[in-house]
Amino acid sequence: MTPSTDRNQTLFDRARELIPGGVNSPVRAFRAVGGTPRFVQRAQGASFWDANDKRYIDYIGSWGPMILGHGHPAVVEAVQRAVLEGFSYGAPTEREVELAQAIIDLVPSIEMVRLVSSGTEAAMSAMRLARGATGRSKLIKFEGCYHGHADALLVKAGSGLATFGNPTSAGVPPEVVQHTIVLEYNNIQQLEEAFARHGADLACLMIEPIAGNMNFVRASVPFMKRCRELCTQHGALLVFDEVMTGFRVALGGAQSVYAGLIPGFRPDLTVMGKVIGGGMPLAAFGGPRAIMEQLAPLGPVYQAGTLSGNPVATACGLATLQQIAKPGFFDGLGAKTRQLVDGLKSAAAAEGVPFSADCQGGMFGFFLLAELPQNYSQVMKSDSARFNVLFHGLLDRGIYIAPALYEAGFVSSAHTDEDIAQTVAAAREIFKGLEA
Ligand code: PLP
Repeated sequence: MTPSTDRNQTLFDRARELIPGGVNSPVRAFRAVGGTPRFVQRAQGASFWDANDKRYIDYIGSWGPMILGHGHPAVVEAVQRAVLEGFSYGAPTEREVELAQAIIDLVPSIEMVRLVSSGTEAAMSAMRLARGATGRSKLIKFEGCYHGHADALLVKAGSGLATFGNPTSAGVPPEVVQHTIVLEYNNIQQLEEAFARHGADLACLMIEPIAGNMNFVRASVPFMKRCRELCTQHGALLVFDEVMTGFRVALGGAQSVYAGLIPGFRPDLTVMGKVIGGGMPLAAFGGPRAIMEQLAPLGPVYQAGTLSGNPVATACGLATLQQIAKPGFFDGLGAKTRQLVDGLKSAAAAEGVPFSADCQGGMFGFFLLAELPQNYSQVMKSDSARFNVLFHGLLDRGIYIAPALYEAGFVSSAHTDEDIAQTVAAAREIFKGLEA
């Protein structure tokens, strides 16, 4: 295809004149992998079609929300009905109550929830609430964990920042991050030292329990157990950022996975997004009543939003949660994701390519490394040149994975056995050309 007949290229050229980098979120720009971003014109099930009408099997699913695939009939119907009733009122609706109830029913650590419009807003608000509720300023986060782009959390944040080599953004004054303590993921010694030093000043520890913004790295069970113990001991809140993992790795989120491994385990606050909006701008944060009641209008911690609890977004989110709460949904999704991961591992092994991969529910990650990394600096050892060969090889063959090394992947209930077989076969062809 020549540049003049490539509609992705034509649109990208135009977009770059009008929008910084041609995109409204940096990683979409393909800067790390090179080439032209695909402009999506429509999507259905596990596929989308680009501006040249080429079909791709989609393993991004809008970076997580599309757990049912695109255009699930029950979700489309709910959204269509809601749109006819009005787009936004700025006054409460029954659907917000229903969605709050659904979240509370599915996540035992949550007694009250506040709806917002993005994961960034949810994480920022949870941080403010933790500070307001404890009367303390300091917070712990981990290198490679992304909690949206609120200033105080935008330190060594993995994901797009890692992709572009700026671990921390410009425009964030040092005073704003002076209370942010950044530690290595899965490092118990550093954690203990930080609590010993700052314990009395810590408002919260915020963590991605399965980090999806440095590809896919699980918090080890002893590390998570220690996070919980130290927070409890020092009166800091344990905040789970489940924007990616919530309703994605299991119906009850990553916290239900850890609760199965650590008796009685639960975080204090939970930050959610992505799947709860089913592809619409909707996110939330929640926790125990006594903490959540610190929020305005009941308490002194201010938080608000013109479009919060939007009636169309809540219809989309509710319809999505109703589908994924059906018996057996996560067994099927988990098995499908496992099939993909095992297939990729066997294909790499057959071609002698060092490869490791992991998955939980409908979320997966893989590395061109023999061992699964445990923290950000180990993830950074991945070979980006070889990743780029794999990325473009898959893209040419109609398979769309994240255009960056530091992102997790997502399987939906709409992916078929044929989609997965096609993906594994394509990967094997590409692995053949990769030197070990
Ligand atoms: N937290 C996590 C774990 C995320 O993965 C993201 C986005 O990818 C966010 C927060 C920010 O969410 P949003 O992009 O909706 O602002």
